[in-house]
Amino acid sequence: MAKSSRMTLCSFCGKSQTEVKKIIAGPGVYICDSCVGVCKTIMDRELKPAASAETKPAIRLIKPAEIKRTLDEFVIGQDHAKKVLAVAVYNHYKRLKFGSSLSTLDPTEMAHEFNDVEVEKSNILLAGPTGSGKTLLARTLARILDVPFAISDATTLTEAGYVGEDVENVVLRLLQAANYDVKRAECGIIYIDEIDKTRRSTENVSITRDVSGEGVQQALLKILEGTVCNVPPQGGRKHPNQEYIQVNTANILFICGGAFVGLDQILKKRLGSSSVGFHVNADDRAITPEEVMKKIAPEDLVRFGMIPEFIGRLPVVSVLDQLSVADLEKILLKTKNATIKQYAKLFAIDGVRLHFTRDAVKAIAQKAIDLKTGARALRSIMETLMLEVMYDLPQRDDVTEVIIDAAVVAGRRRPTLRLAPKAEPTENAA
Ligand code: ADP
Repeated sequence: MAKSSRMTLCSFCGKSQTEVKKIIAGPGVYICDSCVGVCKTIMDRELKPAASAETKPAIRLIKPAEIKRTLDEFVIGQDHAKKVLAVAVYNHYKRLKFGSSLSTLDPTEMAHEFNDVEVEKSNILLAGPTGSGKTLLARTLARILDVPFAISDATTLTEAGYVGEDVENVVLRLLQAANYDVKRAECGIIYIDEIDKTRRSTENVSITRDVSGEGVQQALLKILEGTVCNVPPQGGRKHPNQEYIQVNTANILFICGGAFVGLDQILKKRLGSSSVGFHVNADDRAITPEEVMKKIAPEDLVRFGMIPEFIGRLPVVSVLDQLSVADLEKILLKTKNATIKQYAKLFAIDGVRLHFTRDAVKAIAQKAIDLKTGARALRSIMETLMLEVMYDLPQRDDVTEVIIDAAVVAGRRRPTLRLAPKAEPTENAA
């Protein structure tokens, strides 16, 4: 069809040679590399249905304590969320490895008793302030796990949000992470960020349908509980005559995260207490996330603007703690990829030692607390702080050490530079 006399166009998608990597010619027809990819996926799926149904992805069971230990290396605090995730992921692996009923395997006698019991997946809701590590936890899980993993942002989903439209791009991302291996994708994990942004605009909307958020929640609901969805292999909008890849989401584990600003007020109102909330301030007594967790009920989330069916699909809820100055200091210094370690590495490549005094570290952490964006601000504070010295240093070969103290963080002076043996230490070098 789509062949002009001058240009070679793919006979399947109509794209020209300049729009694709490669076009292969046959007698009177052409096909581009991306259509070859789609065809292969379809053939794999349709010609080997029996084989692939039997094939269970090779899964190594990682015990919850081991998952948490690895999370501890990268994420400061948030013990409750780490435990919740570790257990959920461990159980997810178990379901995948042994099936939701154990009949086809070689179960122990005790497990045999439960052959007819279907183990349901437990999707997870992570609520907590901005910059407290929700996305980091999800990302770090991806490092530990050997199942495909994808992150999506709920705010990018269409307002209409019907299944068959944009929400399927959430699944497409997982499919891409699995290299279009449908069986592997069907065992994957999807993290949906900013889920609180899909709230209804008001608490009392009951008769009129609020498409802004509720539509997205409705659409997500179907993929959360498990549906066979038609994923357009190249993303974007569906259109007639397009080939779809069918993905069953029944075994995909969903982790939804959001800041849920204002949820603490809803809790306070319900409990008639002033001592409940995510934010520990001067008036509130120090509370642990476990204590808050026990108090959050589905009705609070419904009052916040989430639809009951949606909350029903997220049976595991964990609340992340607001990070303290001490936590932020640890993030700067102690984690495997600690921010200061990263700068120190960059300096070490040039043979320069980078030293932060304890006061400097505390001052940076305090600055981040003042900005109220959790650990998110640390990186930009550090970039601003280090800009001048990182600009000047490559031009000099006499500097052996750069010292940053609290006065430098406060902007009262420049970093102290220690010079090679011949010269005396100088302060306020340019
Ligand atoms: P959010 O809770 O808003 O999803 P992120 O996980 O995106 O926050 O955090 C932003 C950045 O802040 C991360 O990339 C990481 O560098 C840092 N960070 C946040 N929380 C923690 C934590 N608990 N431990 C270590 N680093 C953290």
